[in-house]
Amino acid sequence: MTAADHARRLAIAAATVAAGTLAACVASSRPLGRAAAAAASLTAPSLPAPPRLKQFPVRGRHDTGYDAGTDQRDRWSCDDARSNSDFCTSTRCTWHGAHLGNDIWADEGTPVVATVDGTLIQSEWSDYSGNRITIRDASGWSHFSAHLQRRSAEMAVGRAIRAGEVIGFVGKTGSAANGVVHLHYSIYPGDDYESGVDPWPYLRAVEHGVCAATATR
Ligand SMILES: [Zn+2]
Repeated sequence: MTAADHARRLAIAAATVAAGTLAACVASSRPLGRAAAAAASLTAPSLPAPPRLKQFPVRGRHDTGYDAGTDQRDRWSCDDARSNSDFCTSTRCTWHGAHLGNDIWADEGTPVVATVDGTLIQSEWSDYSGNRITIRDASGWSHFSAHLQRRSAEMAVGRAIRAGEVIGFVGKTGSAANGVVHLHYSIYPGDDYESGVDPWPYLRAVEHGVCAATATR
């Protein structure tokens, strides 16, 4: 896809979200409170390399980003055929504000795996994000997964995680989910959610063969 195509799709996605038709997962997915995020943004780390994913987070049929097929399960695919970004930094992106991540639509209970090797730095429930997990990779990028139906039993904070390990399952938990099943996935430096980057180019690089692939747990 060209940059122009991407920009056009993003505009469509933003318009769709702004219309409120699928505003399932929005700014309230933030893992930090506003005060903590504001403080963190003052000392945002300068990371040595862009994030690099080893695995796509969803193991099964899915549709990444908002588009006409988002709520049409029969149009989902196992590859990157229906993939776009719904990352948006404008406060007008949704009726809640910015959307600093990508939403991946999939069936409830679809396994979610770690995208990188790293350390589990958060595994908990929040009213906004539901069951949420954050993994910090060796470069200092945080990889945030929200609205999980449930977390894997072995998700003890501080433990090492390998890419491909099942960390939980796609769900609709948390008040931000608005009843729509999906995974919200964000990538941000350190603890600075507000400085998050668009996960889409990194997701797309590993978004293929995910139905046939086997999770390690
Ligand atoms: Zn989201």
